[in-house]
Amino acid sequence: MPVDNRPAWSGPLARSALLLAAAAVLGALLGHAWPALALASIALLAWHGWQLQRVLQRLRMRKRPPDRGGKGIWRQLDLLLDRNQDEARTRNRRLLAMLRAYRAAAAALPDAVVVVERNRQRILWFNEAATPLLGLQAPRDIDAPLGERLQPLPIAHWLTSGRHAEPMSDVGSPVSSEIRLNLRLIPYSDELWLLVARDVTKLMRLEHMRRDFVANVSHELRTPLTVVHGYLEMLDESGLDPADQAAWAPMVAEMQRQSQRMTQLVEDLLTLSRLESLDAIGDESVAMQPMLATLRSEALALSQHRHAIEVEDSAGVDLWGSQKELHSAFSNLVSNAVRYTPAGGSIRIVFARDGNGGAVLSVRDSGYGIPEAHLPRITERFYRVSNSRSRESGGTGLGLSIVKHVLNLHQARLEIESEVGRGSTFSCHFGPQRVHRRDH
Ligand code: ADP
Repeated sequence: MPVDNRPAWSGPLARSALLLAAAAVLGALLGHAWPALALASIALLAWHGWQLQRVLQRLRMRKRPPDRGGKGIWRQLDLLLDRNQDEARTRNRRLLAMLRAYRAAAAALPDAVVVVERNRQRILWFNEAATPLLGLQAPRDIDAPLGERLQPLPIAHWLTSGRHAEPMSDVGSPVSSEIRLNLRLIPYSDELWLLVARDVTKLMRLEHMRRDFVANVSHELRTPLTVVHGYLEMLDESGLDPADQAAWAPMVAEMQRQSQRMTQLVEDLLTLSRLESLDAIGDESVAMQPMLATLRSEALALSQHRHAIEVEDSAGVDLWGSQKELHSAFSNLVSNAVRYTPAGGSIRIVFARDGNGGAVLSVRDSGYGIPEAHLPRITERFYRVSNSRSRESGGTGLGLSIVKHVLNLHQARLEIESEVGRGSTFSCHFGPQRVHRRDH
């Protein structure tokens, strides 16, 4: 029955007034008007009290009482309560269905999903994929400490980083080290974290195959290139028949240039695949004074007095890492600065401390600069702002990829600032753990 929307008090008020008036008239006829009025009032109050009691009982029992019929305010109240209860029930049913659907979706995901309680770092829930990928078993591992259950994965330190935890890529699963995983920690509320583990075994296998293929091709190309290079040099040294000199000399020179470019390309590809196959790098002390001196002489040799070259060393510290790889990264930056700065420009190599206990090596030039749109992709292999400018200056398109890989292996990062027409600054930021006091 629909709820009556007329003011609920008008009917009962009229009925009560009528009842009291009738009692007063009847009482007056019997000569007891006031006692009759009092009796009628008490009866009215008692009836309302009983109705209120019924409503309270109904709310307490959460049960729908039999329909009382009629049109009074208590009937209206019953109808309103029925309607609210029906709506609440429908809402709950819908929420429950949604919750079930979400759970089913999370359970069916091919990635392992684990809900972790942040403070205690205990497992609250996990989906089916968490069993083959992480070795978690329900109900045994519900409420178990996550770090302990995922051993030997080194996640204790990772968990303490919480919100700032970097994704862990290519780690062996606790079930079998053959299964390679990518792990991500997603704090989705103040109390709860989501640990997502994705199976990247196939991807890693393909990546390995690609790396091996590039390394093998580069390796195979080395020998024929050395032979071609050798013969071209012999041709140049032994001299050509003077009659042919004018025609052949430029061709031989061009062939030499191109074979040198190919050799450099092969060497850079081999360097890249070697760096990619490394998980960690040696921790020797890298003396920065001689390093800066070498960079300076390399810059001078490349520049051939076309640029003003300045070196500043205010850090007073040395680095931990691989001397060879760091030199390769820094000299790539210096070579780029020389190659992409027109004659008359300046190049400044600065090694200084940063505000966080680390150190920065930056190479600043006053060259062509790089349009902002290219910056996010500039460290990708073979990514060039201008193909012709790179090739003319003898670039392979792999220099900055090598720099990025070397810095990653040293847990350092590359920052690039550039303005077209004004120049660029490439800065290598090393953390405090990579810095130590200079011995002399
Ligand atoms: P390349 O061998 O082509 O120099 P890199 O990987 O070293 O390859 O650099 C990628 C691209 O970044 C270059 O082709 C060039 O367009 C741009 N680049 C690198 N360094 C500089 C610089 N100092 N000034 C301007 N452009 C630069």
